[in-house]
Amino acid sequence: MLAFLDLALKQAAHSPCRYRVGAVLAKGSRVLAHAHNRHRNAPSVDLRHATFHAEEILMRRAGSPRGCVVYVARLDRSGAPALARPCPRCQHALASRGIGIAHYTTSHGPDWLRLA
Ligand SMILES: [Zn+2]
Repeated sequence: MLAFLDLALKQAAHSPCRYRVGAVLAKGSRVLAHAHNRHRNAPSVDLRHATFHAEEILMRRAGSPRGCVVYVARLDRSGAPALARPCPRCQHALASRGIGIAHYTTSHGPDWLRLA
């Protein structure tokens, strides 16, 4: 489980965004998809919708994520793990695709939540 969060942190490191978030979708010990968040358009246009969340991109890449577990990680400016609890919109999207559990980083260690 920590290995998948580490993988998600490595994804976050590739993000061009101010809030660097990475996500991994796993089934058992297999990684089905990974992603990091991206700019949707110029950040000055619409702050609220300025990025595609890592989870959204993950959903697009995953064929059939039912029964999978999602791992979401964020890196702060200094490169340390930070709170990456999925936002309500992503929580709903993940749950509606049959993903039951999300593990995520916080500044004080990993945490998780049950979706749906
Ligand atoms: Zn989100």
